[in-house]
Amino acid sequence: MIVAIDGPAGSGKSTTARRAAQRLGGLYLDTGAMFRAIGLAFLDQDQPFTDAAAAVLVPSLTVELDPHPDTSALTVRLNGDDVTERIRSGPAAQAASRAASLGPVRDAMLRSQRAVAADWTSHGRAVVAEGRDMGSVVFPDAPVKFFLIADIEARAQRRAADLAARGETADVDQVRAEIAERDRRDQNRALAPLQAAPDAIVLDTTALTPEEQVERVVQTVRT
Ligand code: C5P
Repeated sequence: MIVAIDGPAGSGKSTTARRAAQRLGGLYLDTGAMFRAIGLAFLDQDQPFTDAAAAVLVPSLTVELDPHPDTSALTVRLNGDDVTERIRSGPAAQAASRAASLGPVRDAMLRSQRAVAADWTSHGRAVVAEGRDMGSVVFPDAPVKFFLIADIEARAQRRAADLAARGETADVDQVRAEIAERDRRDQNRALAPLQAAPDAIVLDTTALTPEEQVERVVQTVRT
């Protein structure tokens, strides 16, 4: 059983997917974390965001997601280094979004996301996959698909709170502008643009609590 949860930045995907995975005893697959780790590698190695650079860089990278057995919180490793904290910075988010428009990056991520999911589902476990193209491209046959949306203001407030909790300066106006820029890039790119799959349930989380969102996903899986 694969549950696909997509949506723009700050729509509530991560919290919903992580907690739903916990409730279902399944794997939380945070594909944004994978793109963030790749984006970080472009920054660290001072590479331009081009297909040519990606074709050389990506095969040299390994990205691992280690879920905590109790909380499903992820440790993210890039070529063995723990980058869990570093991938959450503003620059890493922008780098992820730029890297995510490149063919060699998308191809590698698609292959590795499908391989991880196949491994888990072959053991009878659920996978709750979260990102931008889970329902539309990577797992088009997933029986449960959600597309989360929320007002830009609510999304900016949530992201700013996340950043502040990590000790980063978080000016809401700046955060709002950054997520709007990322959404624009994610929606307008040629490959796997951010869009709801035709069979996705669209859920507006603006006025919902995380508990309500998780409940909605878990109930849908169980019916
Ligand atoms: O979800 P998160 O904010 O961590 O994602 C970071 C970036 O990675 C997004 O802005 C998007 O460009 C990219 N991404 C993607 N496809 C996915 C997940 C993330 O293109 N499935």
